[in-house]
Amino acid sequence: MAEGGAERTTAAGTISRLPPQAWSYLINPPILLIIWILRDLDLIARAPLWGYALMLGAAAVLGAITDAWALRRRSRLSVQARIAAQTAAVTAAIYMTGWGPVLTIAYAFTAQEAIGRFGARAWRSTLAWCALCIALAQCGIALRLVPSLLPTSMVQGLAALEIVGLTIVLRMVGSVTADKEKAESSLRASEDRFRSLVQHSSDLTIVVGEGSRILYASEASWEMLGVDAAQLLGTDAATLVHPEDLEQLRALVAGWHTTEETSTRLDIRLRHADGTWRDVEAAVSDLRSRPTVAGLIVNIRDVTARKAAERALAHHALHDTLTGLPNRSLLMDRLEQSLMSVERDPGGVPALAFLDLDRFKLVNDQLGHGAGDELLVQVARRLRRALRPTDTVARLGGDEFVVLSEGVADPETAGLLGDRIIRCFDERVTIGGCALPISASVGIAIGERGDDAERLLQRADAAMYRAKTLGRGRAVVFDETTGAETRERVHIEGALRRAIDKGEIGVHYQPIFALNDLSVIAVEALARWHDPQRGLVSPEAFIGVAEDTGLIVELGAQVMREACQQVATWNRERIGTSPLAASINLSGKQLNDPNVNALVRDTLGMSELDPSQLWLEVTETYVLNDHERVVATLDALRNLGATIAVDDFGTGYSSLTYLRRFPVGIVKIDRQFVNGIGRATHDEEIVAAVVRLGHALGLRVVAEGIETLEQLQYLQALGCDAGQGFYLARPAPAHVVAFEAPAPDATTAAR
Ligand code: C2E
Ligand code: CA
Ligand code: CA
Repeated sequence: MAEGGAERTTAAGTISRLPPQAWSYLINPPILLIIWILRDLDLIARAPLWGYALMLGAAAVLGAITDAWALRRRSRLSVQARIAAQTAAVTAAIYMTGWGPVLTIAYAFTAQEAIGRFGARAWRSTLAWCALCIALAQCGIALRLVPSLLPTSMVQGLAALEIVGLTIVLRMVGSVTADKEKAESSLRASEDRFRSLVQHSSDLTIVVGEGSRILYASEASWEMLGVDAAQLLGTDAATLVHPEDLEQLRALVAGWHTTEETSTRLDIRLRHADGTWRDVEAAVSDLRSRPTVAGLIVNIRDVTARKAAERALAHHALHDTLTGLPNRSLLMDRLEQSLMSVERDPGGVPALAFLDLDRFKLVNDQLGHGAGDELLVQVARRLRRALRPTDTVARLGGDEFVVLSEGVADPETAGLLGDRIIRCFDERVTIGGCALPISASVGIAIGERGDDAERLLQRADAAMYRAKTLGRGRAVVFDETTGAETRERVHIEGALRRAIDKGEIGVHYQPIFALNDLSVIAVEALARWHDPQRGLVSPEAFIGVAEDTGLIVELGAQVMREACQQVATWNRERIGTSPLAASINLSGKQLNDPNVNALVRDTLGMSELDPSQLWLEVTETYVLNDHERVVATLDALRNLGATIAVDDFGTGYSSLTYLRRFPVGIVKIDRQFVNGIGRATHDEEIVAAVVRLGHALGLRVVAEGIETLEQLQYLQALGCDAGQGFYLARPAPAHVVAFEAPAPDATTAAR
């Protein structure tokens, strides 16, 4: 294109310079002088001198005009005119001398000029014009209009030879030129292709020469590095490379003066003008041995986005999305590693702390999953902050976290680790403006020689379970007792199964008294297991296992049948007194059992207990579950005539106002609050509030765990409806149940 522009300027120049040039030919003294001398010596034909001058001038003018035309518009006609004018001028010049056919060589120059200018194809028209001009000149000689210093017969022969010779020569020149043109055009095309490939590619291509100087950079440098290609020229490529990746570049450049052409791939980071680092993949071809290149051709592809995605994927696979902590796979991996290294360095024994948030489910159910998630995130943050950077804090899922700490070889250090974790929960967690008290149960197990990760985790889990049963918010280090307990649990499950089958589950009864006159109004049925080997097993030891294994459904049914029968019998026997109610505990598992309704109906039918004499105790935490299903279940039970009592009230996070949405008739204040009467004003206030609010909502309020006269009197003063507890009567087998409350004066003295 640039060449085209140059052509146009030359064309304009030719036209403007036309007259002086033509005149210069006309009056060119040396040429005319030579012609004059040659003519005088009879070496050329004796045509008049002005004829020569005119001819030269005409040729020059004609040549210049056609030249300009052909240059300006390379049309077929202009090209033909130009060639014709040139050929005519040459013909005129050589034939005027009288030596026409002898000076054939002049045509060769004309032809060469035409072919050089208009391309290989011009050889044919040049030949045609030459032949035409020669023929015309021959005619001129025959008619004696053109001078000839040779005999006519010779002239004609020479002319024929001239044409044959010209044909051969021009054809040859034409074909050679055509080949050259073809080669050139294909070279140009491929060069063009490569140039645009390099220039328009989103990949950056640079050529790095000696001393890692940049010899060339493609335009993509702006896009990729925020630097103009021109700015990069001459700079040291090393200044672009991340210091940590420099070694790779150095190693490459080090092999200078190699003769081999090699290619390598580099994964490096390059500096962007904005100060960030771009991840790139560089394909380096070593063309230093090729003189035309003499450098490294570096093709650079920006893979920042891909690398980021790969890193995110890898992170995702090994981390928990919510808290960003390592997940189970990463933890297990690190644990395996750690256990393996114990073989080499016994000082680095790993300990595993398994922690489970207490009552997490409540937060989730009551405040929503958003709040639950927020709580987990905050717990994760606290743990991370409280532990050493070398400790791994992982989340196994749900509310279970695991801490892997190395160098914890003895139970004491493990205990310290536990303390550190427990202290994370000293402060309340604020979620949505609510400051929630939280706690966690922590179980710690210390790694042993030949341990495997799974077994260590199981031991930590067992220790955590023990911490939970000991009463939440504490840490337990796994020892032989814990191990024995785990085995015990497994043992209990089997034994309990057999006990239920053989009907070894008995029921003890604890009277519930009206607090105004201390008359018995109900008895709570409490399961007891008479184990032939162990004796009487407390519910604390087996209710949990029964719930975990689902055995509670059958166990609860047995207790209900026996209790209803017993209370119905008492009501038949105790004529004259108001009938007692049977208060039966129902666990969440039992309530979720589809047959619970049928069980209650059939039991009432069989025992002939008046349905109004049946209280069903459900725990507060159960009520906090799936609202609609719970309401439907409780509604169905109430429709059978039973009264629903909310057990252990105050241990969940619910409010009485919340409970109003359920078909509840009785609320039982948990014994931990009753226990605080006379000790903690806080507990007294809670008890007072529950009594007041319960009454306002039309509920009967029962206080559990009354152990002292003071507690009894406090509750009586509050107007609490009913109560139970060791002070009034201990749970006892049916035949020894005391239906009389102790006379205040006598009992105080006795105790
Ligand atoms: P709960 O429903 O809160 O039962 C009351 C528990 O408090 C009973 O313990 C009782 O012996 C005890 N208790 C009564 N008065 C006092 C007192 O003044 N001070 C103290 N410290 N404790 C007192 P127990 O019999 O060991 O039962 C423990 C738990 O086992 C029960 O707690 C109940 O949740 C569960 N349970 C017992 N029997 C059954 C049953 O048949 N079915 C179901 N689902 N759960 C049962
Ligand atoms: Ca109860
Ligand atoms: Ca209770």
